[in-house]
Amino acid sequence: MKPLTSLFIDGQWIQGEGESFESLNPGNGESIWEGNAANADQVDDAVAASRKAFPHWAELTLKQRAAYFQRFNTLLEEHKTLLADTIGQETGKPLWEAQTEITAMLGKASITVKAYQERCSSEDNSNQNIRSSLSYRPHGVVAIFGPYNFPGHLPNGHIMPALLAGNTVVFKPSELTPRTAELMVHLWQKAELPDGVLNLVQGGKDTGVALASHQNIDGLFFTGSAETGCYLHEQFGGHPEKILALEMGGNNPLLVTETDNIPAAVYNTIQSAYITSGQRCTCARRLLVPEGYPGDRFILALKEAVSNIGIGAYNREPQPFMGPLISQNAVSNLLNAQQTLLEGGAEALLEMQRFTDKGAFLTPGLLECSNMEDPPDQELFGPLLQIYRFKELSDAVDLANHTRYGLSAGVLSDNPAIFEYFQRHVRAGLINWNRPLTGASSARPFGGTGLSGNHRPSASAAADYCAYPVASLQSEAMELPDSLPPGLHIDDHIWSNT
Ligand code: NAD
Repeated sequence: MKPLTSLFIDGQWIQGEGESFESLNPGNGESIWEGNAANADQVDDAVAASRKAFPHWAELTLKQRAAYFQRFNTLLEEHKTLLADTIGQETGKPLWEAQTEITAMLGKASITVKAYQERCSSEDNSNQNIRSSLSYRPHGVVAIFGPYNFPGHLPNGHIMPALLAGNTVVFKPSELTPRTAELMVHLWQKAELPDGVLNLVQGGKDTGVALASHQNIDGLFFTGSAETGCYLHEQFGGHPEKILALEMGGNNPLLVTETDNIPAAVYNTIQSAYITSGQRCTCARRLLVPEGYPGDRFILALKEAVSNIGIGAYNREPQPFMGPLISQNAVSNLLNAQQTLLEGGAEALLEMQRFTDKGAFLTPGLLECSNMEDPPDQELFGPLLQIYRFKELSDAVDLANHTRYGLSAGVLSDNPAIFEYFQRHVRAGLINWNRPLTGASSARPFGGTGLSGNHRPSASAAADYCAYPVASLQSEAMELPDSLPPGLHIDDHIWSNT
């Protein structure tokens, strides 16, 4: 079915006037959505609609805005099977995993309200005649950019806090997941969000550039690659009047040492590195293992389990652990990156390979990289894990920190002292112990340092970048002090009538 209308501007579904593009099911290459991108004029219309809707939306009380979230959640619950199927079909992630994305979305409303109340509550303190107050104001019109790997949960993680704080939104989803975005926005429309409060512009880089460079936006909340994020950061340089929140990727280390529970360590490593076919920002990319026998034994067990990972289409029964990557393009890029590592001295314990001729499937890869002289510090966004062996714990920490990124890091070990040391010395925004790196609490801040973000973490901390504080000192009436400061004379009787 071809939708004629792909953009949602000022409460109307309209046809895009930019390039036509389609969304493919990466598991079989079939087209599942077709539409046209928003051109620059339509981006302009979307920003204008947001601007027009802003004053009224910002004037509503928190309770009134939160009421729309309840309606959205009810609709999400009603449509969760359809949405999970859409996410599975469009990203390739297996249905069991797509369902967990919906669960995260369903939990977002209450977390968002609680976080806003905790971080942005108004305060009033009176001291004699002077009142000191603190309140929070929305920025205005914000652009929200989403990635493809969590096309529902991650844009939702910016949209809800932005709306709750009183901003209006122009949402540009990934050009690889337009259908999921369209369905989500339909739910917001059904929830009767006022016209112009949330606008949808579909499209790729050109649409993104038109939106990000639009003079009339007050902020941009971005989740995506470091490459695009750094480009946006440069573009926003010299614009302190605009708020920019960047959530980007990582080259994340996972340390496995001093554990007798090899099966659990293998399980946690697989969950860290290969879930979502390695397409999570928090996925482990580098596995740090001590030299010698216990490490060898763990790697052998890991290799065995990884080689048995079930791969298949998102709706296959029995369900696979890994689906396809997002596109054939992503497959080619990863295979090229693996080739570069192999030519640079890495040894394949399991070589990542195309799984079938049809579909963007890759088998999981495991590379021994300890002999590489200068391994590239890059995020390889797929099912490829690099092993680095070390002698001393301090060497493991040096290895962990040998990256410009700083998103997630973790330790699998029975020894709490190792985790304490690691946590104290490793630079990352998320540091887990005996839990997969890919597990994060929505009720905590989510973000990284270095190339992983610009110090504006999301999740519970999103409230901080969605509103600005206004501090105020107030008195009901003005009065003269008992004595004036030196050098100041105010003769009050020349102004009096008597
Ligand atoms: P991407 O950077 O390619 O795209 C993200 C968005 O930016 C898309 O909407 C895209 O159309 C747009 N865009 C691309 N070029 C642009 C430009 N020049 N100007 C304006 N907009 C532009 O990212 P992706 O490939 O969709 O997502 C995968 C990446 O996202 C990975 O690097 C992953 O680590 C990261 N990610 C980070 C988090 C996090 O919270 N830290 C979460 C999920 C994914």
